[in-house]
Amino acid sequence: CGIVGYLGYRDAYPILIKGLKRLEYRGYDSAGVAIHNGHNIHYYKKKGKVSDLEQISSNNPHDGRMGIAHTRWATHGEPSDINSHPHTSMSGNLFLIHNGIIENFHSIKEALSARGFKFKSDTDTEVLVNLIEDIQKGENTTLENAVRQALNQVIGAYAICVFDKREPNEIIVAKMGSPLVIGLAEDEYFIASDATPFLEYTKKVIYLQDGEMGVIRKGKPLVIREIKTNLTIDPYVQQLQM
Ligand code: GLU
Repeated sequence: CGIVGYLGYRDAYPILIKGLKRLEYRGYDSAGVAIHNGHNIHYYKKKGKVSDLEQISSNNPHDGRMGIAHTRWATHGEPSDINSHPHTSMSGNLFLIHNGIIENFHSIKEALSARGFKFKSDTDTEVLVNLIEDIQKGENTTLENAVRQALNQVIGAYAICVFDKREPNEIIVAKMGSPLVIGLAEDEYFIASDATPFLEYTKKVIYLQDGEMGVIRKGKPLVIREIKTNLTIDPYVQQLQM
């Protein structure tokens, strides 16, 4: 029920953990984090409190300047370590966190299973990350395009953050129904369900609108597009409309 992300020059882990704690009021049953240090992913998830997640992660490697973190309120699949987010695609390349519900996950799961996909969890979320992977591979396209095409097949509510471990400087986010906010600062980006996790770092906040996705790349301006039409939306104009 909470999302936090970071891409910049600082250590991501303390920002992500502190951010999850600020979102605890939203309620949750599990927590998880995935951090990219340019070479490896440090990946921890656990049923229970954010403090339980810290117990398994704080004394293990967690360096890196890009990462995503999640608190889960289970809707599909019981609260468990395996059902916690982030979820990975079958190849292990994609890492995704999701708040909300993918209503038509069952039919997509059947189609992917028939194509050889195997699932570790009982969640709707793991179906989405594999759908993105299937499109990315099948069409040999960018993560951004694969996410857009996947979301055009999905019915439901979501706020998502996803990255590809082969691309340590990029996070794709999208929103329909669940909240997602992007914080902008010099050479760094923050992502969260509300602005409280990053207000101490920046006051420049963009509230993603339903049907929008954001392409967040290190050292590049934020690009916001419509999921349906692929039209680019000027975030500063959008911000003024708030
Ligand atoms: N539907 C997803 C799940 O059950 C996400 C739940 C949430 O919003 O935390 O894993």
